[in-house]
Amino acid sequence: MFQTELYINGQWRAASDSVRFDVLNPADETVLASVASGTVEDARAAVDAAAEAMKGWAAKTPRARAEILRKAFELMTARLEDFARLITLENGKARADAMGEAAYAAEFFRWFSEEAVRGEGLLARAPASGARILVQQRPAGVAVLVTPWNYPAAMGTRKIAPALAAGCSVVIKPASETPLTMLALMPLLEEAGVPPGVVNVLPSRSSGAVVDAMLRDPRVRVVSFTGSTAVGRKLLHSAAEQVLKPAMELGGNAPVIVFEDADIDVAVDGAMLAKMRNLGEACTAANRFYVHEDVAETFVDRFTARMAALKVGNGIEDGVDVGPLVNADTRDKVAAFVADAVAKGAKVRLGGKAPEGKGFFYPPTVLTDVPGNAACVGDEIFGPVAAIQTFREEGEVVRRANDTEYGLVAYVFTRDMARGLRVSEQLDFGMIGLNRGLVSDPAAPFGGMKQSGLGREGGHEGMLEFMETQYISASW
Ligand code: NAP
Repeated sequence: MFQTELYINGQWRAASDSVRFDVLNPADETVLASVASGTVEDARAAVDAAAEAMKGWAAKTPRARAEILRKAFELMTARLEDFARLITLENGKARADAMGEAAYAAEFFRWFSEEAVRGEGLLARAPASGARILVQQRPAGVAVLVTPWNYPAAMGTRKIAPALAAGCSVVIKPASETPLTMLALMPLLEEAGVPPGVVNVLPSRSSGAVVDAMLRDPRVRVVSFTGSTAVGRKLLHSAAEQVLKPAMELGGNAPVIVFEDADIDVAVDGAMLAKMRNLGEACTAANRFYVHEDVAETFVDRFTARMAALKVGNGIEDGVDVGPLVNADTRDKVAAFVADAVAKGAKVRLGGKAPEGKGFFYPPTVLTDVPGNAACVGDEIFGPVAAIQTFREEGEVVRRANDTEYGLVAYVFTRDMARGLRVSEQLDFGMIGLNRGLVSDPAAPFGGMKQSGLGREGGHEGMLEFMETQYISASW
């Protein structure tokens, strides 16, 4: 039913030491599949395949690569239901979230099929010598891609599509919680015309050793990682050995600022999206709410009513809005954040208690009067808990919002666009949602400032992460 072997050079194979690991369904804790766990030897074989396949792939015309990516978009779009089902089974998220992810994931193939043919360069005259300056972008080399469990499809395609558009080959190591979706994508890529070895998938429970071995292989030139800041830091250390090109999409701690002049219904809609898309398991998830004192009561009442109306259950069932969290650790961490905030004085307006029984469920929860020293104000909650504080002055809320080592995304709600743009420019975040609770878009540069990362995915910038600039000084 599922693909469960390593995918190297277009072939399915067991791990060199035959070790496997279980993938669980977080809704009922049953074992969904037993997956091959790649070894360092397998990682070497995957890099061998990628290095060999890249020669032919990079030599293809941009149009030929673009057409294969376009075909991948069409095939994936025709199978969104299948991918969504698989995403729900291994990650837990509800069907609507999973459908949204599958469609978003497919869009990266379309967007980068369009970008593949836009390889720009420059021809100029050197001011002093008069020599010609030719600048062009070349594929950087074999890329190692490491992805998290919260978007098993989209975090993969957001890297695979630009890498392939640029002319690179890849080895992808999906998260051990959710390797099945990426493995299921491989027959589709074959059908689209991706040659063997251009995309290799290496699930592994020994992620540290396997990824480290690949980053130390001189044939690898790019490491693109999405995951926690702690692991990102480790990979940057390893990447330093071969001076790899790093792209790092790391953690977030998104503030949501609701000014007194905001349209409260727009703010509540935005807050619901920013908080509850993917049940809060997103780097872009609203983590800290700052609501102006004058509108706090109205906002909290309406937002709490919307949160209370969400149906919690097995994400595969119709009508369910909120599935289980991905694993017991994540659920326990969310519960600990709530307990800590309450011990420090926060009030529970909704939820706040994990149900008994099977599955890693946690209910939609609203906390008010959350003190600034609560752990959830400084760390990613990564669950369906909204932590609400109030503020009085614009300058004060900007300072509080910026008071974090993260800088991925911030959300601002105000009817006054001059204020909205002024505040946006003062916020040290790579992305701003202005009267919007959703910023992710394949056509826009996604990424963070400060310890939320390096580089951008999507947009025009995404393909450049997999390319290197070459300059030729010429006379003729
Ligand atoms: P994680 O623990 O950092 O894991 C991410 C990936 O790294 C997984 O494939 C994991 O493999 C692998 N990994 C773990 N330790 C490693 C090591 N020592 N060396 C090499 N690879 C290693 O993150 P997660 O818990 O899956 O995902 C949640 C985090 O991702 C959050 O912090 C979230 O904010 C961030 N995120 C960021 C973005 C963004 O675009 N900025 C998007 C989505 C998520 P195993 O599964 O085998 O451990």
